[in-house]
Amino acid sequence: MELTGKTALVTGSSRGIGKTIALELARNGCIVIVHGSKESDALGESFEKVKKLSPDSLMISAELSKPDEIDDMFSQIKQTFAGLDILVNNAATQNPSPILELKQEDWDRVLSVNLTAPFLCAQHAGRIMRDTKRGGKIINISSVHAYDARRHYAHYSAAKGGLETLTKSLAIELASYNIQVNSIVAGAIATELTPLDRQEKFLTSVPAARIGTTEEIAQMVVFLSSNRCDYITGASITVDGGLTLGFCATRPDL
Ligand code: NAP
Repeated sequence: MELTGKTALVTGSSRGIGKTIALELARNGCIVIVHGSKESDALGESFEKVKKLSPDSLMISAELSKPDEIDDMFSQIKQTFAGLDILVNNAATQNPSPILELKQEDWDRVLSVNLTAPFLCAQHAGRIMRDTKRGGKIINISSVHAYDARRHYAHYSAAKGGLETLTKSLAIELASYNIQVNSIVAGAIATELTPLDRQEKFLTSVPAARIGTTEEIAQMVVFLSSNRCDYITGASITVDGGLTLGFCATRPDL
C-alpha cells in the first residue's frame, strides 16, 4: 500500500465525496482523521467504516466557519499524532440564491466555509509539515464552477475561483518545504444526495455521457497524495468527463 504510515485529514468526510476519499486513503494505508461539522450518525458511520480499514484513525467534529473550532481541531491532531502528511480540503457548503436577492450573511458563510477555512487549514497543516520536516501534500477539492459560472451560485463560484488561486499561492510558498499543493476541479459527481433527475440532466452536456463517481475523485486524491507526483504542484486537475471542453464537445453535428 503506497500510503502506509501517512496521516491524512479529510475535511467533510462524514458523507459524499469526502467519505469515499477517507475510505480510499485508509484502504491505501493511511491513518485518517474523519471530520464533520458536528457529531452526527453520518459522521459516526463513516468513521466506523474507516476504522475497520485503519484502526488508529480519529474522528473530529469542527464547524469550519468558526476559526476557534479549526484551531481546536489542529490542537487535537497535534496532541494525537507525530505529524500530518496529507490535508484534503473537501468540506464545502452551498446555498443557491438569485444574485440580486443574495444576503450578505449567506455570501459570508459560503466564503468562510469554502475559502477561508481551506486557507486556515492549509496554514495549520503547512506549519506542522514544515516543523516535522516530513514534507506533505495539500489537495483542494474545487469545482468546474470556479471557471464556468452557474446561475444562483455566485458565492460558491467566487469561493471556488479563490480556492484555485489559493492553491497556486500555497504551491509557490510551500515548495521549499517539500509540500505539494494541487486542486481537483470536479465536474458533476453523484453522491447519495444527488437526485436522479439532476444526474439525468447532465447526460447531454457531458461527452462521457454520464455523471462521475465519488471513487473517481478519490482515486485522483490517492494519486496526488503519493510520491508518484512529487514534481506536480500548483496544478488544477480536471475530473469532469469532458464537461468543460466547450460548445462543440456534445454537438456531433458540428
Ligand atoms: P456533501 O455531500 O454536501 O458533504 C459536505 C461535507 O462537508 C459534509 O461532510 C459536511 O459535514 C461538511 N461540511 C459542510 N459544511 C460544513 C461546515 N460549515 N463545517 C464543517 N464541515 C462542513 O458534499 P459533496 O457533494 O460530497 O462535495 C464535496 C466537495 O466536492 C465540495 O468541496 C464540493 O464543492 C465539491 N464538488 C462536489 C460536486 C458534486 O457534484 N457533488 C461537484 C464539484 C465539486 P456534515 O455532515 O457535518 O454537514
